[in-house]
Amino acid sequence: MTHVEHVPARQAGETRWPDWVDERLVTRWANHGISGLWPHQAEAANLVHDGLNVIIATGTASGKSLSYLVPALSSVLDGGTVLYLSPTKALAADQLRSLGELDLPELRAATFDGDTSFEERAWIRRHANYVLTNPDMLHRTLLPRHAQWSAFWRRLRMIVVDECHGYRGVFGSHVAQILRRLRRICARYGSRPTFLLSSATASEPGTFAMRLTGLQMAEVTTDASPRGATTFALWEPPLTGLRGEGGAPLRRPATAESADLLADLVIADVRTLAFVRSRRAAESVALTTRARLQDLVIDVGAPAELPDKVAAYRAGYLAEDRRKLEKALRSGDLLGLATTNALELGVDVSGLDAVLIAGWPGTRASLWQQAGRAGRDGQDALAVLIARDDPLDTYLVHHPDALFGRPVEAIVLDPDNPYVLGPHLCAAASEIPLTHDDLEVFGPATKQVLSDLVEAGLLRERATGWFWTSRDRATDLADIRGGGGAPVQLVETSTGRLLGTVDEPSAHMSVHTGAVYVHQGETFLVTELDLEAEVALLEAGTPEYTTFARDVTDISVIESLRSHPLGPGELHFGSAEVTSQVVSYIKRRAQSGELLGDESLDLPPRTLRTRAVWWTLPASAITPLAGDGLDLGGAAHAAEHASIGLLPLFATCDRWDIGGVSTELHPDTGLLTVFVYDGHEGGAGFAERGYARARDWLTATREAIASCECDRGCPSCIQSPKCGNGNEPLDKTGALRLLAVLLSIDPRET
Ligand SMILES: [Zn+2]
Ligand SMILES: [Zn+2]
Repeated sequence: MTHVEHVPARQAGETRWPDWVDERLVTRWANHGISGLWPHQAEAANLVHDGLNVIIATGTASGKSLSYLVPALSSVLDGGTVLYLSPTKALAADQLRSLGELDLPELRAATFDGDTSFEERAWIRRHANYVLTNPDMLHRTLLPRHAQWSAFWRRLRMIVVDECHGYRGVFGSHVAQILRRLRRICARYGSRPTFLLSSATASEPGTFAMRLTGLQMAEVTTDASPRGATTFALWEPPLTGLRGEGGAPLRRPATAESADLLADLVIADVRTLAFVRSRRAAESVALTTRARLQDLVIDVGAPAELPDKVAAYRAGYLAEDRRKLEKALRSGDLLGLATTNALELGVDVSGLDAVLIAGWPGTRASLWQQAGRAGRDGQDALAVLIARDDPLDTYLVHHPDALFGRPVEAIVLDPDNPYVLGPHLCAAASEIPLTHDDLEVFGPATKQVLSDLVEAGLLRERATGWFWTSRDRATDLADIRGGGGAPVQLVETSTGRLLGTVDEPSAHMSVHTGAVYVHQGETFLVTELDLEAEVALLEAGTPEYTTFARDVTDISVIESLRSHPLGPGELHFGSAEVTSQVVSYIKRRAQSGELLGDESLDLPPRTLRTRAVWWTLPASAITPLAGDGLDLGGAAHAAEHASIGLLPLFATCDRWDIGGVSTELHPDTGLLTVFVYDGHEGGAGFAERGYARARDWLTATREAIASCECDRGCPSCIQSPKCGNGNEPLDKTGALRLLAVLLSIDPRET
């Protein structure tokens, strides 16, 4: 255990209704036991009521929905309309249900999505005053057919963007442009709706909200909802005698540690949920825990029924089974449950005592969502984060401030990405021809992108502006959920069932022939990836190993857009061309992480024009290091791996969304250079965030390497599962020294 944090209970602030709230609403909510707004809800509601745009970024279960429902329903009672956007259909359906429960005769709410029938659509356009939809429908239907919705737009008072932290990276950049198109349509019909965005906690929510909407935004970030006390422990599995690539020591897997902790908690009569990544891991944790308990029954005469109090939750459960499970957990018949976060979707478990989280779940929002499963109803609770063998997990269990202090991770996107902006400018021009006055709405890159579109023959320029003259649907140009390239379909061979799609760039990495692929907690084996047919064939299976694709990458600098000195070196942000090829994959034993071997792959190289952040060091700064016998190439390579691992702490990305290249001498810079780039055409905002927070990011990178007690590097610090060079060469001491030089810190400092 590396740290114990006592997160104190929070007393609820006083609740009251702002005096502008209609009596009819106050009575309705009183019927549901709501006696007023907590201070943070009131603050957001008042700002919107005053016509200001606002983002409310507070924790889970802090009652964010009431803060927009109050001004939204007030607008409806006043004769206005409301547009509600959610990232998923399920969330919109949920919201519709709670609106229905209010039983307000003036409210005519309806969801408008892909399942809405033709008749319903006509009714909604004519009568609804509260429309719940998603960015996809806005993009494909509401905006292109804006004329049919004229009555709705004219009266539009408020736009709610719920769970907006989901709008990040390339998808977020598309949504940002859809919202700009929406603003232009509203202006056309003479309305200026107020935006309320609701988000999980993040660093700089106002900056994110402004990038997403293009508007100035007020922030509400202080949570005044009540909460029980939580004891939060950070746990790092020990190094074992097992050896991985290059003889590196391996840590005990997070799942094995979870099983031990789960057994201990069950013996102590503590109701516990253990979150793991896959359904197979859930089953293995439950099995291991039961076996440990069985040993205790035999060895020390523990109660014979103890092993039966542990189960795995399966995503495929029917509603009836789920209710049974909930009941067993509540009654104490079941004390331990191992689960994937599929549980978030279906089972209502409250009143648990403890939560185990095997591996950093990617964001603080998910961490607190999982931890929040324990100690509901104001009771105290225990949560344990168990590190996986990854530099970010290593850093976090040694730097509790990053988890419990002010958030450092920001939600990032890049609406100026020309590959995103171009298609939306075409869509906008087909909705209403673009004029010079519109340039400002779509951002600084608009002028250049418009002239490129004219040159490509997609738009026509006339004296009055830009026109879409094709008979094709302009909205077809933008694939808002994809990452570029035709999507690859995932088909289960035995049943012919379509499991889903992945975009072409990630297909090379995640569903190559031979890959083990986890889909909604279920494990599949890819029998064939056929890029020409755009299909991957999968079979359900329980292989004893996991796979990691490896790629080799070349990068060339197109243009440095911004730069500044960093220590004796220089830091740059700019555009780059990346050529990468997935060349092989490795297999690691699921239970222990042991390397089982690697297989080569025959996939074509891909070329990407994207954004990158890079740093260089002059020969004068690194010659002394070489003099000390350090391997400069290995040092830069190790620093690159670890920095890719740490960037998700500052930008809400996945380590698979970014890539890197390092070299002792890069032809474009003539210097030792380490690049980290966005793995999406045109960029996604991650590298830019790295540039903005470079000192903190690289300091954290160095600390992550220093925190790991291995001698010469391991998967918890400088080895990368996707390294195309087989993690060769790597120099751990060299990386620490190199980063110390770059950051101008004393190399003895850790
Ligand atoms: Zn290590
Ligand atoms: Zn590498």
